[in-house]
Amino acid sequence: MIITQKRELSRLLENVENYRSFFLIGCSECATLCGTGGEEQVKELTGVLRGKGKEVTGGIVARTGCQVLGTKKELKEHKEALDKTECILVMSCGAGTQSAVEIFEDKAVYPTNDSLFLGNMTRFQMFDERCSLCGECILDRTGGICPVTNCPKGILNGPCGGMQDGKCEVSPDINCAWVRIYERMKKIDRLDEMRETVLDAKSWSKGQKPAALSTREKKEKK
Ligand code: SF4
Ligand code: SF4
Repeated sequence: MIITQKRELSRLLENVENYRSFFLIGCSECATLCGTGGEEQVKELTGVLRGKGKEVTGGIVARTGCQVLGTKKELKEHKEALDKTECILVMSCGAGTQSAVEIFEDKAVYPTNDSLFLGNMTRFQMFDERCSLCGECILDRTGGICPVTNCPKGILNGPCGGMQDGKCEVSPDINCAWVRIYERMKKIDRLDEMRETVLDAKSWSKGQKPAALSTREKKEKK
């Protein structure tokens, strides 16, 4: 899931000070789990804006904010309110904000959140980054633990010389990714494989931006 954090309210209010009317779009997926764009937060921001003398014409929590066509369809029944709206506030990730930019070509669109990373929710509203979307996964060679993300230096054949007692030299709060990989490989009886494996330098071109992918089946030419 995409981990988001609310932007400073003062900055948001400064962004939108010249607009009078707003429509709010949250997201029922990641932003709801992060507590940045669910029903509660949409209601809360509505109250804040009204308290500042602004008009809030409406709001929704979109099923999946990054799904452009689905969100567009959900917004159809709010046409009347949207016609009276000057500015759209998107309470999801940057992808959701850009869905709104695509849907509302002629309206101002602002994000209320910062998008931080792709993360796993380990406990309620606690998130850890586990994958950096490098485009060429090597988890098959590392016992399922990602050194690209879990090692602050992204070392592919570690540990580095700074590791001490299983802790990372960059921060004693972090367990060395390569010690974790070693322990994991030992547990699943793959240490021999680890001894023989030298990971090749990664081709970062696989993670080149902007990425695009179509999973539609190609139609066969007749
Ligand atoms: S190797 Fe790449 S794709 Fe696989 S988990 Fe790590 S960052 Fe993600
Ligand atoms: S101590 Fe381990 S996790 Fe930290 S930088 Fe070195 S190899 Fe990476």
